[in-house]
Amino acid sequence: MIDVVQLNKKFKELHVLFDINHTFQQGKTTVIIGASGSGKSTLLRCINHLEAPTSGAIYYKGELLDESNIQTVRKQMGMVFQNFNLFSNMKVSDNVGYALSVVKQLEAETIQTIVEQQLQTVGLSDKIDVYPKTLSGGQKQRVAIARCLAMEPEVFLFDEPTSSLDPEMVGEVLDVMRNITKQGFTNIIVTHEMGFAKEVADEVIFMYQGRIWEHAAKDEFFGQPKTQEAKAFLEKIL
Ligand code: ADP
Ligand code: MG
Repeated sequence: MIDVVQLNKKFKELHVLFDINHTFQQGKTTVIIGASGSGKSTLLRCINHLEAPTSGAIYYKGELLDESNIQTVRKQMGMVFQNFNLFSNMKVSDNVGYALSVVKQLEAETIQTIVEQQLQTVGLSDKIDVYPKTLSGGQKQRVAIARCLAMEPEVFLFDEPTSSLDPEMVGEVLDVMRNITKQGFTNIIVTHEMGFAKEVADEVIFMYQGRIWEHAAKDEFFGQPKTQEAKAFLEKIL
């Protein structure tokens, strides 16, 4: 589904991703873990070309991603960020409906139906007419997820979606994500929530200093991590 081939990324002199090779399978959930600064976000951002690879390539369903097709492919990839990235000047309804209007150019009535439906999916029907500043962090993140769902993507990229939330709000966002992982999307989730990872992952990637240090099926990874670095990371976080 998504093939990352010999990907390297540098920010000027700083080399942050080294020779990343990985195939993300269609319909599977891959959880990416690793210490802060190990390159997790940069990898996600290269996958949908928010960052251009310095060398190497990303293939989506066998098609090489480049400037000519990234706009089309990005419609298939919903991304959820740590800090929500909602438009603060727009009501919740417009946050969820905006791309349906400007990207998909759907009619207002159709957009309204989809917006209502997706807000219901994330349990926020009653917030349709409010502005983001009136929402809790957990609610903001659920709006951000509804916005992705509304676009009917094939792929979900989650970059630490619960990391900036107060602890009591983590659960409500994980609940929504848990449902998404049951629906056949291809999910790539960066998270420090190891309980959640153990539950939903098909596969785990452990990143260390810009490299895929270890990757394995979930049970294998959590049951018996192979590298010292992965063991140390798990001991620290669990
Ligand atoms: P993680 O998500 O695992 O914490 P990141 O991918 O955010 O790691 O960062 C990997 C490295 O790349 C870090 O050293 C970070 O400072 C650096 N980095 C990330 N984005 C940029 C950027 N836009 N410009 C310069 N350096 C960056
Ligand atoms: Mg990050």
